[in-house]
Amino acid sequence: MKEVQKEQKNEFDIAIIGGGPAGLTAGLYAARARMDTIIVEKMMFGGQAAITETIENYPGFPGGIAGADLTNKMKEQAAKFGLGFIDAEVKAIKRHETGNKGFTIITDERELFTRALIIATGADPQKLEVPGESEYEGRGVSYCATCDGPFFRDQDIVVVGGGDTAVEEGLFLTKFGSKVTLVHRRDRLRATKVLQERALANPKLDFAWGSVVTEIVGENSVEGVKIKNVKTGEEKVLPARGVFVFVGIKPNTNFLQGQVEIDKSGYVITDENMQSSVSGIYACGDARKKLLRQVVTACGEGATAAFSAQHYVEQLKGTAYE
Ligand code: NAP
Repeated sequence: MKEVQKEQKNEFDIAIIGGGPAGLTAGLYAARARMDTIIVEKMMFGGQAAITETIENYPGFPGGIAGADLTNKMKEQAAKFGLGFIDAEVKAIKRHETGNKGFTIITDERELFTRALIIATGADPQKLEVPGESEYEGRGVSYCATCDGPFFRDQDIVVVGGGDTAVEEGLFLTKFGSKVTLVHRRDRLRATKVLQERALANPKLDFAWGSVVTEIVGENSVEGVKIKNVKTGEEKVLPARGVFVFVGIKPNTNFLQGQVEIDKSGYVITDENMQSSVSGIYACGDARKKLLRQVVTACGEGATAAFSAQHYVEQLKGTAYE
C-alpha cells in the first residue's frame, strides 16, 4: 500500500491523533472533503481492533472479518483519498491564543500546526495491579490473545474479566490451551448475550465465579494464579502458564490534561457533533465518553468528527457552504 508520509510539510487543516477505526474513518472523510489532513499514530495503525482475531459484529461481513484485515482495508481506503500518515508519539498540544487560529502538536520528533484537531487516541488495557503482574508481563502475563495465545498450546490458561473482551478472547484461547479458566469477580458475565451462550457451551472453558486474582505466582515465568472467593474468602492457586488480563480499558488522554474537559476516568467529553469543550478540538472512538464502545460506533463518530472539523476549518477560511 502506498503511504503518504508528508515529511516536509508541517501545516495542516486537520490533524487526527490515533490511527484506529475512529481515526482512520475521520481521515477518510476529511480527505474526501479535500481537507489537508494528517493522521499521527505512535504504535500500529488499526489500534485495538487490529489485534482482535475476528470481528463479527461489523456490518457487511456475515462470516466475520479478522481485525487486522478490516483495519488494513480502512487504512488503504483513507490513503487512496490522500490522507497523510505520520508515525510519532504526541507528547502535548498547544493552543494558539493569538495570530493563526489553531494548535501546535508536539510529537517526539517534530512540531506540526493544525487548524482543527481530532482526538482518536483510543484506550489501552487496564492492568490488574496485583503482585506478579508486571514482573511476569511477557513471561506468561499478556493483554493480547491474538499475539500471545499460540505460545500456550496444550497448556493451562487463565483469563481474567467478564466483559466482551475477556469472553471473546477466552473463547479464542480455547483453540490453544488444554484448558481455559475464566476468573470473574461476579457470578454472571457482563459480555453480550451471544458471547455468553457460546462461552457457557464451550467444554474447554471453565469458570471461577465470584473470584478475584490476588497474585500471579511462579519461579521464572508464570506457574499459577492465586484467586480468592469474594464471598467465602477461600483462596486457592489455579495452575496456569498463561494469564490473559481483560479487565477493562483506560483512555489515552494524559497528554490532554488541562487542555479539554475530560471526566474522572479520563474520557473526553463531547457534544453529539463530537465537539469537545474547546472550539476546534473534536474527539471520537474509545477515548470519548459514551455508552457503547464498538468498531461500528467508533467509525460513525470518526465520520461525524471529520464533518464537524471540516465545517470549522471552512468557517475559519471563509469558504463554508452556509
Ligand atoms: P469492560 O466491558 O469494562 O469489562 C471489564 C470486565 O473486567 C468486567 O467484567 C469487570 O467486572 C472486570 N473487572 C474490572 N476491573 C477488574 C478488577 N480490578 N478485577 C477483576 N475484574 C475486573 O471491558 P472490556 O471487556 O475490555 O471491553 C471494553 C469495551 O469494548 C466495552 O465497551 C466492550 O463492549 C467493547 N468490546 C466490544 C467487543 C465486541 O463487540 N465484540 C469486543 C471487545 C470489547 P464487572 O463486570 O464486575 O464490572
